[in-house]
Parts: sequence; structure tokens; C-alpha cells
Amino acid sequence: MTGFDTFIMVDWSGGNQGGVKPQADAIWACVASRSTVQPPVYLRHRQKAEAWLADTLAAERAAGRRVLIGFDFPFGYPAGFGAALTGSDDPFALWDWFAARIEDAPTANNRFDVAGAINQRFGGKGPFWANGLKRDVPGLPRTKAGYETTFPDRRAAETHAKGAFTLWQMAGVGSVGSQAMMGLPVLSRLRARFAPDVAVWPFEPLDRPIAFVEIWPSLTVGVAPDGWIKDQWQVHDVARMMAALPPAQLAQMLDVPVTAEGWIFGLGHEAELRALAAPPPLKNDCFALPSGVTWAPVDQALEALRSRLGPVVGPESCDVADALGRVLATDVTAPRAHPPLPNTAVDGYGFAGGRAEGLHRLPLVAHQMTAGRAPDQGVPAGTAVRILTGAALPPGVDTVILQEDITRDGDDILFHGPIKPGANTRKAGEDVAAGDCVAAAGRVLTPADLALLSAVGVAQVPVRAPLRVGVLSTGDELVAAGGDAGPGQIYDANRPMLLGLVTRLGHRAVDLGQVPDDRAALRDRLDSAVGQVDVIVTSGGASAGDADHVSALLNEAGAMAQWRIAIKPGRPLALGVWQGKPVFGLPGNPVAAMVCTLVFAAPALAQMAGAAWCAPRGFDVPAGFEKRKKAGRREYLRARMEGDKVQVFASEGSGRISGLSWADGLVELPDGAVHIRHGDPVRFIPWGGFGL
Ligand code: AMP
Ligand code: MG
Repeated sequence: MTGFDTFIMVDWSGGNQGGVKPQADAIWACVASRSTVQPPVYLRHRQKAEAWLADTLAAERAAGRRVLIGFDFPFGYPAGFGAALTGSDDPFALWDWFAARIEDAPTANNRFDVAGAINQRFGGKGPFWANGLKRDVPGLPRTKAGYETTFPDRRAAETHAKGAFTLWQMAGVGSVGSQAMMGLPVLSRLRARFAPDVAVWPFEPLDRPIAFVEIWPSLTVGVAPDGWIKDQWQVHDVARMMAALPPAQLAQMLDVPVTAEGWIFGLGHEAELRALAAPPPLKNDCFALPSGVTWAPVDQALEALRSRLGPVVGPESCDVADALGRVLATDVTAPRAHPPLPNTAVDGYGFAGGRAEGLHRLPLVAHQMTAGRAPDQGVPAGTAVRILTGAALPPGVDTVILQEDITRDGDDILFHGPIKPGANTRKAGEDVAAGDCVAAAGRVLTPADLALLSAVGVAQVPVRAPLRVGVLSTGDELVAAGGDAGPGQIYDANRPMLLGLVTRLGHRAVDLGQVPDDRAALRDRLDSAVGQVDVIVTSGGASAGDADHVSALLNEAGAMAQWRIAIKPGRPLALGVWQGKPVFGLPGNPVAAMVCTLVFAAPALAQMAGAAWCAPRGFDVPAGFEKRKKAGRREYLRARMEGDKVQVFASEGSGRISGLSWADGLVELPDGAVHIRHGDPVRFIPWGGFGL
């Protein structure tokens, strides 16, 4: 089976048409590719859905794409039913049986009559029950009183799916009996229409360009976020989840035993799939600080961020070649060992076993072993083979002697022992065994990781969608670079700096421009940013003064906490949630804005991007300066290495942008009082230690 390009998920309905306005319990469908998820489509009734499916499949096929299409109703019935009804064990005989008998229109269908007629064939007391109509239906009991059937109540799959309904129940919230009966005729027709391109899972091998797969979103999909209809959210999230699954992992999940009952995709793989589900929405109070906190120590503030923030971006799939800097969404295991076979680490001559001290002579076989060749030709005991670095050891060889350590005598080699058995060889899997975890969820992939993933045969990885971080400057005094600055105005320095920091931190920076100190303008800008970004970073207006509209607005929305953190340089941070999007309100002062970004926003953004929590990495170096500091605030000084000592910028003035530019990093001084003298060890964190 090769991979699929398009994933279409369908949430079916067995009832009459839904309203004109999108609603729950109607038909929903969603189309996703590995890079995009389209908005879910509302299909009011089955005739509309069938036409939409036919058109969509035709368009996908015309574009040469392979399509996996999932339907949320069973493709088969409990064992024995199909054979008893149709005389054949072929599940498609049952599909066609229903297709020939079901009559369907937007406002009426005969499903209860068909169920009653089937019951009458089997003695009139089952297997179907529950009549959703006002009129009585011959053969279809309203309740299970007097119910009798010889068919199993559930398929094998349903015994593994907690909360799944039995197919025999034809009415009632969540029952699938009607959905399957009204869905299988549609599948039967689509299958015929797109023959021979359709393969149905798990009845047929998926070696054709269209695959029909039975899904059950409730198995793995979480609660819908605000503003989403449950079915709309389910098709969206399953489509995205499937598109994010690396093809090898998907193929493994699709590899199930074939029975006429069918199976539910993902059974037994719930944990792996849930790891790919969309993250739960952020809570409005996620930034609340315990009441009574005045000036929080830096570590307490960091711990609050660490424990409350989680990923806000969902997983997607990515080629290993494009995965540099991406955040892994799940653990990745090695499909293949590295090295895959025992091989030689040197150019030399291979033979069996070690040799004791003394002179040894071995005749050479005629062939050679070079890298990339299958080790198909054996080497008889008492002979040796010419073998080059990286070549697999052929049968009969477990030891290699370096070519520099032998002399040739015609077709023989001569060498002196001792040589240990296994010398100069690498064992299969000595680096990585098949099935080992090679990279853990939350890892930000490095060039070396790409080498490791490739070496063990991984071609695609599940990663988090990039975190889109909007950057907005606030202040009446600001003029964008290139504009005319009147007296009293200043150029917007924070925005290019923050956009640069966000980019260097590995996220997708989105320029939200600048707004004056005007509450309505700020509200409009935040509103329009919500659809474009995952997080908003603002600078300026975050304190509690009259012109501090960022904090005022977030306060008004009832979702703000002012974080007064014992840090220098720094002013209060305004942390809040605007329509579900976290807002990081930084101080306007460029030095404080940069320091607060590195110390607080960088780890918070990493966490929201799905990466593991990252504490800054610094090291102790001798101070090239002298300084006294009082207890109370943790202090960060603009600093750089000069020789083997660290120097700090001559002025601690918080408006001195030149000092930021001069520096290679920050010196971090502890919360308590210190007196640093020349040569004392101080902690220096280079920009790279913050993840830049
Ligand atoms: P605020 O946090 O709004 O009270 O601003 C604090 C200081 O930072 C003021 O001197 C502002 O003029 C300055 N400031 C605010 N935003 C920026 C910016 N984007 N670029 C440069 N300086 C700024
Ligand atoms: Mg301001």
C-alpha cells in the first residue's frame, strides 16, 4: 500500500434532512491533505451528500490523487447475518441487498419497513428493534420486550469500542442501526460508480486509489471547542489526525484481520491517535495568579507558565527533509535497525573467528564484498574475502583484519595474530535497534535528528503545526521605520526586534503592525488578529496607567492577570486570553521587552508550540566587572565575553538599545543580595542559551 494524498471524513446520518442552517446530527464532511484542512462541509440530506461525494471523488481522481475516505457507520453486520439474509458471506452482497430495497428521499425513507420485513423473515421478534415512527411497522418492535434473535448482539469490533451502539437498534440518540442501513446503499453505488478504483477496508487490500474505511470519531476525538458543532468538529479533527499520521504508521493501523463483520479504524491504537488529536482549548483563567501575590519571584512565575500552558497547535505530517526545527508531536520509533546488518568498519579482509598469536595464511575467495551489496555469497571456513568499509558481512565472516595489517602472497593473505573474534566489525542494531524510540514528543528537530530519522528508515514525521505569533506595538508616540517622526515621536523599535526574536525561536512571526493608545483601535486589531495567529505578543501599554490599554482591554474581557514579577529590567506583564488566544503583554521599554521575551515568553511560546519546557542554558565564567546588588529582584545585565571574562554594558539605562545590540547575551544575578568582584564566577547566558 502506498500513502494517500487526500483524507475525507464523513459523519453520516440515518434520519430525514436537517435544517437549512448547519446543525448537529446531519451529515458533515471534511477534506484534508497533509498540509491543509478545509472547512467542514454541511450536507443537509443524503442525496446531497451522495452527489457531493461523487463530485469530490471525481475531482480528486482527475487530479491524480489517492483518497482515503472514512465513514462513521459499520461496513458489516454481526457474524452470520449477511449470509442468512443474502445467502452469501460476501459483505458486498449485503451492501447491494440494501441498495436494491432502500428507498430514500430528503423527507421520507423506508428504513423501518425494511427492518420490519427482515425481522419477519427471521420469525418476527428480531434482530432489529426500536421504531422511530408514529405508525406501527409490521415486524419491528418498539422496545426490546419479547425480543428474540439468534444473531450476536455486537460485532467483534464493538466489544472493543466502549460506548458503541448495537446495529440492531434502529432509533434513539446515537444509534447506528439506521445510519448503516441508509449508508450502505450509498457506498454500494459509489463503489460501483468508481469501480475498479475503490477498495473497501478491511475486506479488500488497499491497493487502489480510493479506500473506504470505517471510522468512529468518538474513539479518539476530544470535546469540540466553543463555536463548533460536535459532528463538524469530529470530521475536522479525524481528517486532520489521519492526514498527520506518517504513512507507515497509518499502514500499520490499517493492517487488521479480514472478516465479513468489518472493523473500526484505530481500535487498539487509541493512545497513538489521541496524541495526534487537537489540543484542548486554553482556559480563560490560565494566567490567573494566586491572590495575594504581589511581586512574584521569577521562578514562581516560570513554574506557573510551565504548569498551566500546553500545546495550542495541532499535529500534522511533514517529510523528514523539511522537518528541521519542527516540533515532534509524538514519539518516533525506528522501523529498522541501524545498522541493518552486521558490517565492516574498515577496508580489509574478512573471515570467521579470531586468531591466536603467530603467523596466519588464508586463501582468498574470488569475489569481493562492497557496500550496498546483499551478503548472498558465503565464505567457506579457512578462507578470507576482500571486504570494503560499510559492506555487510557475508555468511561465514564475523571478523575483519585491516588491509594495512596483511601482506598479499598471490591469492593468499598473510598476517600476524592475535586478532579478537569480531574485530573491526559493527553489529546489526548496535546503534539503534528496530522499535527503539529515536526522538521523543516535544523535541525540536536538529540536523543530527534528521540524520538519525533517515538512517532508521523514517520518511515522514508527525509534527506540530508551526506556532503563529502575532507581534503588535502600541503607543501614540510610535512611528514605523521609514515614516516621518515629528518632535516627541519615536520610531517603533520593538516590532522588528520581537518579530526577529519570534523567528529565531523557531515560530512563525506575523506582523500585526502598530496601534495608537486608543482602546477601540486596539480592540479592532486584536479581533482581526484572532483568525490569523495562535498567540499575540504586544509591547507597551501593559502597566496599570491611564494609557495602558492592553491591560485595560484584557481586564475588561475578564481574562487578564497582571504579573508583577521581581525582575530587573522589567515592568508588570499583562497576560490574558483574547477570544481564546493567549496574549503576552510586554512592557514597552525595548530592553525590558527583550529580557521579558527571553526569560518568560520564550519558554511559554515553546510550550504552546508543543515543545518540551526549555530552561535557559548558561554557564559560570569569571566576572570582568564589579557590582553590588540588593536582595529582592533577579537581575539581567547586557553582557558579552571578552577574552576569558564576561563584561557588562557600561550603562544599565533601560532605554539603551545600543547595549542590547552590543551584547552577546545576559549575565543573570540571583534574587538575593550579591557583591560581585573581578574574577568571581557569574552566570552568563549567551543568546543561544535562550534558544536564539
Ligand atoms: P509603556 O510600556 O507603553 O509605558 O512604554 C514604556 C517606554 O517604552 C516608553 O518610553 C515608550 O515610548 C517606549 N516604547 C513603547 N513601545 C515602544 C516601541 N515599540 N519601540 C520603542 N520604544 C517603545
Ligand atoms: Mg505606551
